[in-house]
Amino acid sequence: MAQVLADRRDVDFVLYEQLEVEKLCKHPRYAEFNRKTFDLLVNEARNFSIKEILPTIKESDEIGARFENGKVITPACYKKPYKLLVDGEWIAMTEDPEVGGQGFPHSVGQAALDWMIGASFAFVAYGLAGHGTGKMVEIFGTPKQKELYLKKLYSGQWTGTMVLTEPEAGSDVGNLVTSAKPNGDGTYTITGNKIFITNGEHDLAPNIIHPVLARIEGAPKGTKGISLFIVPKIWVNEDGSLGEDNDVVCTGIEEKMGLHGSATCQLTFGGKGKCRGVLLGEANKGMRVMFYMMNEARLAVGAIGASNASTAYMYSLDYARQRRQGRDLLEFANPDAQPVAIINHPDVRRMLMWMKSLTEGMRSLVYYGAWCFDRIATATSDEDKAYYEGIVDMLTPIIKSYCTDKGFEVCVEAIQIYGGYGYTKDFPVEQLARDSKINSIYEGTNGIQAMDLLGRKMGMKQGALFMNLLGEINKTIALAKGIDGLAPLAQNLEKATGKLAQVAMELGKAAMSAKVKAAFSHAKPFLDCMGDVIMGWMLLWRATVAAPKLAGLAGGSDEAAVNAAAAKNKNAAFYLGQIGSARYFINSILPGTLGKMDAIAATDSAAVDIPDDSFGG
Ligand SMILES: Cc1cc2nc3c(=O)[nH]c(=O)nc-3n(C[C@H](O)[C@H](O)[C@H](O)COP(=O)(O)OP(=O)(O)OC[C@H]3O[C@@H](n4cnc5c(N)ncnc54)[C@H](O)[C@@H]3O)c2cc1C
Repeated sequence: MAQVLADRRDVDFVLYEQLEVEKLCKHPRYAEFNRKTFDLLVNEARNFSIKEILPTIKESDEIGARFENGKVITPACYKKPYKLLVDGEWIAMTEDPEVGGQGFPHSVGQAALDWMIGASFAFVAYGLAGHGTGKMVEIFGTPKQKELYLKKLYSGQWTGTMVLTEPEAGSDVGNLVTSAKPNGDGTYTITGNKIFITNGEHDLAPNIIHPVLARIEGAPKGTKGISLFIVPKIWVNEDGSLGEDNDVVCTGIEEKMGLHGSATCQLTFGGKGKCRGVLLGEANKGMRVMFYMMNEARLAVGAIGASNASTAYMYSLDYARQRRQGRDLLEFANPDAQPVAIINHPDVRRMLMWMKSLTEGMRSLVYYGAWCFDRIATATSDEDKAYYEGIVDMLTPIIKSYCTDKGFEVCVEAIQIYGGYGYTKDFPVEQLARDSKINSIYEGTNGIQAMDLLGRKMGMKQGALFMNLLGEINKTIALAKGIDGLAPLAQNLEKATGKLAQVAMELGKAAMSAKVKAAFSHAKPFLDCMGDVIMGWMLLWRATVAAPKLAGLAGGSDEAAVNAAAAKNKNAAFYLGQIGSARYFINSILPGTLGKMDAIAATDSAAVDIPDDSFGG
């Protein structure tokens, strides 16, 4: 049967064979779980996504969220699945049961989300935003704030948002002008206009809790004077009941390229001077709180990119197996030859292989990021905890930027596989491409991620975090060198990893010299190269797991034996596919990355040298 959204065999491979998540159950935190309970969650997520979420995708794209008489009306097809999202306790799968969660490991929750997001992020976003808001309340809120908001947000009974952007404060959040005036009773009067707020207003839940960035009157300029406020759409009384309307007005929603089901709102806070909020965390420390959420959100957006790629790949693979067009290349001159399925054509196989290797590499990377959170949660020493926190710090801009760019590119390639039909609305891939483009823009554009990587992350702890990451890559390389057939791939990845370290040093030096602007004009290509090397790592890691199992099934690792095994055994075919992905990416994509790294090391300054007028126009 054709796989839908995500390939179950691949998800299981990453969870149980690559990351060995069952080992987490040895820790008291996850002791109540086992493979059976993990499988149950993933099965349920898959069923829910395919039966309830996926059917909304087309209608929600066509109808979209609508703005009528000052109200946002979500597509009617969202009502039932939203109730199921709440009833099924999907929003806080990985949170502590004490605060309303189910307590699953993050890596397993990620697998469940793979299907839910793959089915429709526009829909799932209504619930997930509440999780982000809840997390901030859980970590930085007072006991009373937790009592009032946490379970409502984690359950999805109320939803949440992230309210940063203003017309003159997009990437430069420090420029915001929304103000907060103390009322003397612990509340603040909030006044300002915000734009682009995802699900800032809608009809799926009775209340929306807005975490709003604003500046308390007299606070310093820039990010140092920003505070974070909890601003409910409907005021929440001390006993938890809903009070009066809190003067938060949606003045319109954006007409967008994609994600039509998700309302992107312009919000006015305090238009009548009656909007109240309470501080979340300390005054002037709002960015610290918001960054906590944004780091998680960045990883989540990277995961969306990866899930979009997975969905696009699954559709394309199925189509390439069904669509018959053209003769086999070897029968080209034979007029009697029958048309073959397009999967037989070498160029279509190249596209599929590129999509497959990236989809698999990104799935491993995203789940690995989630698994690092599991390692943090189960760390037995401060050192262990700090180590995995460091890996997450390093990987955050890469997961966000690389997986969203490549996720989009995979969706675009899916259109190519479908040919002319891919460009029509009869097939789902054009929508996937439209829906996934935003991922490279919000939660800090990918350009900003690259600046974060070069300007901050590379130098953290005197470069120790980067060295730790390289150390992890080198462990896989060392392992692969000892496995039959993988040594050449290991050597190629070793070359690329060594070069990445060298280029990082050179670019880092340039970034601290008079060539700083030229260096930063290469920050994004540098991030992309690092992403390529990490893909090579993830795919080689997969191959180190697959190769011995394949040899076991085939009774050897010579070509004839493994091909014969793959022809009659699905697992053998899967493992052979793992080695194939590693071979393709490391031998056909990574050499291009070496060339790109040469260009970065040369740090040519043309982009910053030419005067503005010389750009033409
Ligand atoms: C569908 C959608 C949903 C959104 N949801 C939310 C939400 O829920 N909450 C919220 O607060 N915001 C949200 N946003 C806003 C989003 O986060 C911003 O659009 C984004 O941060 C970029 O800001 P901007 O649009 O003002 O672009 P700008 O900041 O003007 O950036 C334009 C370009 O310049 C580059 N650039 C800007 N400054 C620099 C710099 N210093 N160095 C290098 N390059 C730079 C950017 O990378 C980008 O390529 C959403 C936007 C959209 C479209």
